[in-house]
Amino acid sequence: MQGSRTIIKNFSQIVQVARRTPDELAKYLTKEIAVPVSMDDTKLVINGKVAASVLNAKIQKYFEAYVICKECHKPDTHVGGTDRGYITIVCEACGARYTVKHY
Ligand SMILES: [Zn+2]
Repeated sequence: MQGSRTIIKNFSQIVQVARRTPDELAKYLTKEIAVPVSMDDTKLVINGKVAASVLNAKIQKYFEAYVICKECHKPDTHVGGTDRGYITIVCEACGARYTVKHY
């Protein structure tokens, strides 16, 4: 039986805006929606039916937690490193540096 799939067509665009690797966001979504995902070129394929509104909310949450700088609220951050379950977020706009719990 063919299972239904959900495809995020603009996945590569989203990770570009987030300045994260496709892998990082894919890993986050896998954990959040508890469904296996795979990359197909620039798209993300989710092996299950997931409502677009749910996906959008998860991606929004990812941006809020891991991309948007908590000091200046700009999305100009990158990952400075990971250590024992924490990610260091470094903001290129204001220079803030802080850690958040890893997903
Ligand atoms: Zn900042």
